[in-house]
Amino acid sequence: MERTPLRALRYLLVLVCVAGLGAFLYETGFGRATPFSQWTRKSTDERLSAAKTNTADTVTTDMQFEWVCFYRRCGHTTSRRKSPTLEEVGMTLTQFQNRHKEYHLEVFPGFMRMDRALAQCCPAHLVVFHQGDILCVYQNTEGENTLSLQWALSYSYSALSPETQKLVQKGMLFDSREAIAQFFQASQPS
Ligand SMILES: [Zn+2]
Repeated sequence: MERTPLRALRYLLVLVCVAGLGAFLYETGFGRATPFSQWTRKSTDERLSAAKTNTADTVTTDMQFEWVCFYRRCGHTTSRRKSPTLEEVGMTLTQFQNRHKEYHLEVFPGFMRMDRALAQCCPAHLVVFHQGDILCVYQNTEGENTLSLQWALSYSYSALSPETQKLVQKGMLFDSREAIAQFFQASQPS
């Protein structure tokens, strides 16, 4: 039988979606033919301050978020698209921005771009540091600002040339295990 709390929940979801879409169409001036260029011409600050003063500007179910991270250490950018969670639907843009303070928010009709810059390198790299005399490989597994230890190498830090030691102190970026092995095999005395 379908007459269960699940069915009631489904009706509630549909109701929330319809209400959200209605609010969105009303607030974005659907039917008033606002040219898209008018939106794109506005600076981010203008859009954000408009979002701050217009408390009815809310996150709706049909919005798409683009989460963009720029990693300074390697210069790469990652981006992923997501729909808002149930919890985020209905939030004002100010509430949403306060929740993600580290991001810079850009608002377009039905679409938001969330940007931030991180000091680390992106998850595509392996980074070699040293712990005492042991060389260790780290990776940005979470895509955040921290690296986590992956494994230790059998090469010795003290056997490296002073130039290479300086590079390792800052963290050396590699793109593969093979590249690490090649480099340190060549750097160790035979
Ligand atoms: Zn990268």
